[in-house]
Amino acid sequence: MKVEEEIANRFKCPKCGVQRAKVKKLAMTGASLLERWADWQRNKYYFVTCTNCGYTEVYDAEILDGKKGGIEDLLDLIFGG
Ligand SMILES: [Zn+2]
Repeated sequence: MKVEEEIANRFKCPKCGVQRAKVKKLAMTGASLLERWADWQRNKYYFVTCTNCGYTEVYDAEILDGKKGGIEDLLDLIFGG
């Protein structure tokens, strides 16, 4: 399963308690074209947005994607098992 789906499945909003989220993988980019290219290589993030109240959490994609096989354990930690 993709990391996006894992997060969406487990997300529980800390603000309103609703368990619905949309997850987007986006890059935080710099202003110039070269900066943008360089940033895309390393600054990717998962934006997890509560579809009820709009509360958004951001996770570093490099770290989550790097947890090969261990993403479930990590998400248990973040959202509670
Ligand atoms: Zn919420």
